[in-house]
Amino acid sequence: MTTTLTKTGGHTSHPTYKQLKERVLKNPASSFWLKGAITSLEDRDVLDAQLDVSYLAKLYDIRLREALPGEQPEPEREREIIIHCDEPGCGWSLLMAIEHLPDWHNLPCPQCHSGILVNDEDMVSSAGDL
Ligand SMILES: [Zn+2]
Repeated sequence: MTTTLTKTGGHTSHPTYKQLKERVLKNPASSFWLKGAITSLEDRDVLDAQLDVSYLAKLYDIRLREALPGEQPEPEREREIIIHCDEPGCGWSLLMAIEHLPDWHNLPCPQCHSGILVNDEDMVSSAGDL
C-alpha cells in the first residue's frame, strides 16, 4: 500500500476520511464486504463504530494467529486496554497498548475536554499490568 500525502495551503497532510473512502469504493480490487462495511458504518455513531471496528480488528488478529499452525498468541497483543470518558453524553474511547496508559495520566478527555481519563487510582490499579 502507498500513502499519498496531499498538499493543502503549504502544509503536508494525510488524506481525509472522505478521500480515503472514495479511493476504496472506486478501487475494483477492494472487496465487496469492505465497501459495504464502510458504507453501512456511516449510519452508526462514529465513536461506537470506531470502537467496534477496533474490537473486530483485534478479534481477527487472534483468529488469524490461531489459524496459523505452530503460531502462539503474542503476549504483546494481549496487553491492550480501552480507556473511555465517563462524562455524560461524551462516550469517547480509545483502544491502546497498556504500556501507553501513563501517557494519558491526568489528561482531560480529547473530545469534551472535561474530566480526567486516567486518574491516580487507575494508575495504581493497573500498576501490576504495566
Ligand atoms: Zn469526554
